[in-house]
Amino acid sequence: MEMNIKPVFENLKRPVLIAGPCSAETEEQVMRTAEQLADKNIDLFRAGIWKPRTRPNSFEGIGRDGLRWLKQVKETYGLKTTVEVANTQHVFESLKAGVDVLWIGARTTVNPFSVQEVADALEGIDIPVLVKNPINPDLSLWIGAIERLYKAGISRLGIIHRGFSTYGKSVYRNIPRWEIALEFKKRRYPELQLIVDASHICGNRTLLKDISQQALDLNYDGLMLETHIDPDNAWSDAAQQVTPTGFQDIVDRLIIRELKSSSKEYQENIHELRNQIDNIDREIMHLLSDRMKLSEAIGNYKN
Ligand code: PEP
Ligand code: MN
Repeated sequence: MEMNIKPVFENLKRPVLIAGPCSAETEEQVMRTAEQLADKNIDLFRAGIWKPRTRPNSFEGIGRDGLRWLKQVKETYGLKTTVEVANTQHVFESLKAGVDVLWIGARTTVNPFSVQEVADALEGIDIPVLVKNPINPDLSLWIGAIERLYKAGISRLGIIHRGFSTYGKSVYRNIPRWEIALEFKKRRYPELQLIVDASHICGNRTLLKDISQQALDLNYDGLMLETHIDPDNAWSDAAQQVTPTGFQDIVDRLIIRELKSSSKEYQENIHELRNQIDNIDREIMHLLSDRMKLSEAIGNYKN
């Protein structure tokens, strides 16, 4: 589809930074996190108000009340805000509360009915929308979501790469499959701004900096990092969130390379190929380890 996509973030001189908690939990948690992020040059303050949880009985979000706190964040600290929307009611409440940017979560991007519902609710409204990749590695679904929003009249659009579900053990919570995001941006829609959500790719704090750096080396436009005043006691995604100081520490350690376009393309292509090799290596290691366990089981059984 022919699209004339406009940037969500204008006049970028450095990578976009999106930070804030996985979920808005209490007024104090939201305000204290925002207070500490206020001087860290972030472009957007994120917080989940409605949380799509894989299993029931997890914290499913504070709901509408949390939007008041985000309004307060904006008024007190001048930070722009973003929340996840998955249905008409979410869109309606978020717009009423003056949220600046909406995002569509991975579990919504997989479902064309839901994406269409959000697109219909946004018809005639000029607000930027960021679309996370679907949980399964299906580029068409991801593109389809962008197209549905574009057809509804949303032209400021961007994409968030948060990795893909996998069954079994992996060092990542969601494997990156960099080539999928790169194909979206490079080969189909180069004007789309691409953000890496290192938190949901990693699932813990140890690899956040490496994943962020890899994304910047691949010429991504920015980072989303879940940031919480007290990560260990977060009501969702505790293992992967960092404190505002931890966030700053990651950002400070990143190397932001200025690349000329020809060497940039070379760098990206090399990276893409190396990543594919790394992915295959990782799978080989897992399969070998599973095989060893089975041989051991046979040995024990024979004994
Ligand atoms: C989130 O950003 O907290 C979230 C629920 O992410 P995802 O849709 O990527 O799982
Ligand atoms: Mn989260």
